[in-house]
Parts: sequence; C-alpha cells; structure tokens
Amino acid sequence: MTKAGIQEAADLAGKVVRGDRRALARAITLIESTKSGHAGEAEALLEALLPASGKSVRIGISGVPGVGKSTFIERFGLHLVGQGHQVAVLAVDPSSKVSGGSILGDKTRMEELSRHPQAFIRPTPTGGTLGGVARRTREAMLACEAAGFDVVIVETVGVGQSETAVAEMVDIFLLMLPPGGGDELQGIKKGIVELADAVIVNKADGDLKPAADRAVAEYYAALGLLRPANPNWRPPVLRCSALLGEGIDEVWQTVQRHREVMEAGDARSGKRAAQAGAWMWAEIADGLMRRFKEHPEVARQLAGMEREVRAGKITPAAAARRLVSLLSQD
Ligand code: GDP
Repeated sequence: MTKAGIQEAADLAGKVVRGDRRALARAITLIESTKSGHAGEAEALLEALLPASGKSVRIGISGVPGVGKSTFIERFGLHLVGQGHQVAVLAVDPSSKVSGGSILGDKTRMEELSRHPQAFIRPTPTGGTLGGVARRTREAMLACEAAGFDVVIVETVGVGQSETAVAEMVDIFLLMLPPGGGDELQGIKKGIVELADAVIVNKADGDLKPAADRAVAEYYAALGLLRPANPNWRPPVLRCSALLGEGIDEVWQTVQRHREVMEAGDARSGKRAAQAGAWMWAEIADGLMRRFKEHPEVARQLAGMEREVRAGKITPAAAARRLVSLLSQD
C-alpha cells in the first residue's frame, strides 16, 4: 500500500473518531469495498479505529420477514435516542443479491429514526458470501463504536443462515417471533432458538393480543426445556407491540439486566474474547480457502479430481489431501 493510502486511512480514522458522520459512511464504504486495492487501506483504517471501539452495547435482532423488526427498531431506536443514546443500526441480509431488493429495499424503513441526528442506519451490501458479509458487518460495527455510537443494533432476516454469524458478533441476541404459539417455534430451527438471549413476541395488540399471550406462555415453556448457555441467565420471553410502542422499554431493561449479569461474572469480556478468537479463525479459514481456489495448479486439477471422486475412482480424502498438498508446492 502507498504512503498516501496509509495517510488517507489515518485521516479518515481521525474524522470518524471525532464523530464526523460522512467520514463514518466513507469508512464503512471502504471496509465494504471488494476491490483488492482497498484491502490494505481498510485494514490500516480499522487498526486506527480499534482502540476507540468496543464501548457499545451490541444487540442482535432476528426474525422472519414481516414479524415487525423494522417497526420495532424504529420505536426502540427512537426510545433510546430520546434517552440520549447514539444508536447505529446495521442490517445484514445474505440472501438477496447485490442488484436485487436489499432488505432496506424500496420501502422506507425506520423513516423517523433514519433522519434522527443521533442515529445511523446502514444496510450491509448483499450478495457476498455469508463469511464476507459477517466480516464487513463486524468491522462496520467497530467503526460505529469508534464514532461514538453506544448502542449498535445488528438486524438480520431470520431465514436460517445469518443468525449464527450475527449471534457471534453481539452481546445479546434477540429473537422476534409472531404471536402464533408453539407451532411457530417448531417452524424455526431449533439452533436459532438456542441462540436467543431473549425472545420477543411482537404484535401483542388488537385481535392478536390473546394469541400473543398464549404464545408467551408456550415459548416460555419451550425455552425452559433448553439448557441455557449461561447458568445465570434464563432467556425471558417478552411481549410487545412495535406498532403501538408498547413493551419497548421492557426490552431495553432486559438488555441492561443481561449486561449486568454478564459483567458480574466477567462473562461479557470472556464472550467478546471468544468471539474475537473465533473471528480470527474464520478469517484464517477464508484466507486459506481463497488461496486454495486461486492456486493455479489447484485450479488445473480440481475439476478432474472431483470427477474421479464422483466416479468412485479415488476416495474423497485422498483427493483432498493431494489437492491441499499442492499449496505447499510453490
Ligand atoms: P420486518 O419485515 O420484520 O421488518 O417487519 P415490518 O416492521 O416491516 O412489519 C411488517 C408488517 O407488520 C407491517 O405491516 C407492520 O405495520 C406490521 N407490524 C409491525 N409491528 C406490529 C405490531 O406490533 N402490531 C401489529 N398489529 N402489526 C405490526
């Protein structure tokens, strides 16, 4: 990387830390850039931002499309900015394509919050691999923290693949469910329910209220059957109406209570340390896979080798070993 590039990254980092919104937006664009020429600059930027990051409450929220996530985040975010917080919202959607409808799509989501001077809303560009999307979101989260946001909300569409990645980058993972009851829970992958630090039953209003009340009891019973990840924290089941703005503060109180419990036992720093370690391994795996796929000799032999494996002429293990060994023949 050029000297000018390093200087530019340092200048940008300085502006981000001083709370310059446009600089933050530019920083995230640089982080998200897939141009190989930008990688060094983005890395220098992140290193400069790292010491100023880490001070926010990191909240993940997931739920199927239509459950009310954006309505909730709008209310929740406005509630928090009203209390003086600075709120950043990052949205992850690995399922849609770059040119196709992003989750922020054509409809305007979180309209009021997005205009609020204490809020910052940003979708993660889509169409990449889940690993890539997760990495960019993590890095964007660090940039938001460095810019002074003390609450970072990472939203993901509950379609089953991005939840784990998001749960691995936040302090508390909230699962939003419709007021359907136990059957709904069965439709959701058990693994995702296990990730939840709290369940929120939304749409507890009007005709749906009795169903929501029943759902709360059923979800609570269902969650009780799971072994909690932290013995000091039994995931609560909350109800809210994002539409009417009811139950919003209870969610924030739960986030704070969870934080206290985690901090009391040093579980929070332990969790973040474990997340950072896991992140490094994910980067190593990504980097190795990239090198593998880009290796000319691998590229030359891969298809033929796969054909032989499929035809039963060579075992998968032997083929993999031979292909991987090509990496060391540089
Ligand atoms: P998302 O796809 O999860 O972000 O869901 P949206 O926030 O876009 O909400 C989907 C639909 O549900 C919209 O028509 C909302 O007005 C409606 N909705 C959201 N929250 C509530 C709620 O608390 N009660 C009711 N009755 N409807 C809601």
